[in-house]
Amino acid sequence: MKILVINAGSSSLKYQLINMEDESVLAKGLCERIGIGGLIKHTAGEHTASCEIDFPTHAEAFAEVVKQLSTGERAVISDVGEISAVGHRVVQGGEYFSESALITEDMLKKLEELNPLAPLHNPANIMAIRACQKIFDQSVPQVAVFDTSFHQSIPKHAYMYAIPYELYEKHHIRKYGFHGTSHRYVSARLSEMMEKPLEELNVITCHLGNGSSLTAVKGGKSVDTTMGFTPLDGVIMGTRCGSIDPSVVMFIEEKEGLTSQAVNDLLNKKSGYAGISGITSDQRDLVAASKEGNARAKLALNMQQYGIKKFIGAYAAAMGGVDAIVFTGGIGENSSETRIGVCRGLQFLGVDFDEAKNVEIHGTEAELTKPGSKVKVFVIPTNEELTIAKDTKALI
Ligand code: ADP
Repeated sequence: MKILVINAGSSSLKYQLINMEDESVLAKGLCERIGIGGLIKHTAGEHTASCEIDFPTHAEAFAEVVKQLSTGERAVISDVGEISAVGHRVVQGGEYFSESALITEDMLKKLEELNPLAPLHNPANIMAIRACQKIFDQSVPQVAVFDTSFHQSIPKHAYMYAIPYELYEKHHIRKYGFHGTSHRYVSARLSEMMEKPLEELNVITCHLGNGSSLTAVKGGKSVDTTMGFTPLDGVIMGTRCGSIDPSVVMFIEEKEGLTSQAVNDLLNKKSGYAGISGITSDQRDLVAASKEGNARAKLALNMQQYGIKKFIGAYAAAMGGVDAIVFTGGIGENSSETRIGVCRGLQFLGVDFDEAKNVEIHGTEAELTKPGSKVKVFVIPTNEELTIAKDTKALI
């Protein structure tokens, strides 16, 4: 069985074709500049090719993806009919979806209702699903896997904001949480690596990439997470500010004469590591600049590590203890600097961190604590695409 996994943005479309017999990636790629030109980068095996093609909409991009997969000397399927199902990443499932589900007209209507909660993401996801429906036969099932659904288990006292209750009822303002597919994957994988049932584990998963979030996973269920109503909340990120006093928003509006939209832009795109360092949103550049003595790059890293450490303490308390901490995402998997900055000083919690092992680990599964450490620390590269493909297979 071959499953196509789609992660669409407003002007982009990432894809992977996965062979479910051995869970291998047959081909993958990225269509960019949809609506403003068009560029596809396609990889099959060792071979990668890029070409410019006009993509007025996602439909043309899908048609090109299918063509790349099924024609030419590096085709990985002989006919589109070999694709058994399509799994879509959908960012916001609101309170409707606590699990992945088959896509129906009724679901698409509900997702449209949720557009105000994820104005940058959900309309793009819906557009991609509709485009996909045009390209594939109606008999090819399509499945939605939501970033938010893993967090639907968070208890009400943890997901509510202390604003007038009517605003929750009227506008559904609450914590939703994101990166759920990644937190779910790494916590399940951890249980395999520790050879302990997930039901018996208290885990803190740290997904650290351009966007970052931590989740408290108790007995396999998310009980709290750092992102909130939107992916702006929580720890500081590449260009996002993370948690701040909401009064700052009004203060900036007034003092800088900015509209609320402009402040929204500032907090999402010009803050975080980029805003603090003034030079970069990228972890590698930040570490390099810090090593060269750039004080603001160093400050950004200190803020990053302190913020993550603080949430680890909070979630250990929230769960009544922690058995393991997992690092994932581009930074979590690769940056030994961030991991040591977070784990140094956690001895009181029971973390006996292996600093020598830590510096050797980049992008591979590994335990980073010494034998006998009460709390274990792991690196587990995330695999959201495989999780989407597995959910899709299970549903069809
Ligand atoms: P996204 O949230 O866009 O999926 P990623 O999970 O790919 O992002 O993470 C991107 C971040 O990972 C960037 O800050 C990048 O610098 C960092 N990163 C990637 N590779 C490395 C590496 N080898 N060492 C340190 N940081 C890395």
